[in-house]
Amino acid sequence: MKTRIALIAHDKKKDDMIALATEYREFLSGCTLVATGTTGGRLVNEVGLQVDRKHSGPFGGDLQIGSLLVEGMIDCVIFLRDPMTPQPHEPDINALVRACDVHNTPCATNMASAHLVLSQLQLRAQP
Ligand code: PGA
Repeated sequence: MKTRIALIAHDKKKDDMIALATEYREFLSGCTLVATGTTGGRLVNEVGLQVDRKHSGPFGGDLQIGSLLVEGMIDCVIFLRDPMTPQPHEPDINALVRACDVHNTPCATNMASAHLVLSQLQLRAQP
């Protein structure tokens, strides 16, 4: 089965997400991807990935991804959060990260951990 990865980036972290997805493009193109609306749009347009786009984060996208995760449909979350900017949907963000902890799902919230997680998943996917 394909690895199912959720990708989310706050506005000031979206360029980082594009750089990350570009670096891991070959691996990610073999995964099933879901993303919040704006992040997903950029991943489609700028990296050429196929992504199931949910609502934008402030409109419930993080909750939609959290719901998929609780149902066992997500193997890993890459969530590049902006720790310096208050977010209107902070409760939704906390709910998603909490759901990852409840269900023991890897959740990378910064570039360093995202690299570690993606490089390991990429290794495991090799025949
Ligand atoms: P966005 O949502 O990808 O639609 O910007 C991300 C977020 O703010 O949680």
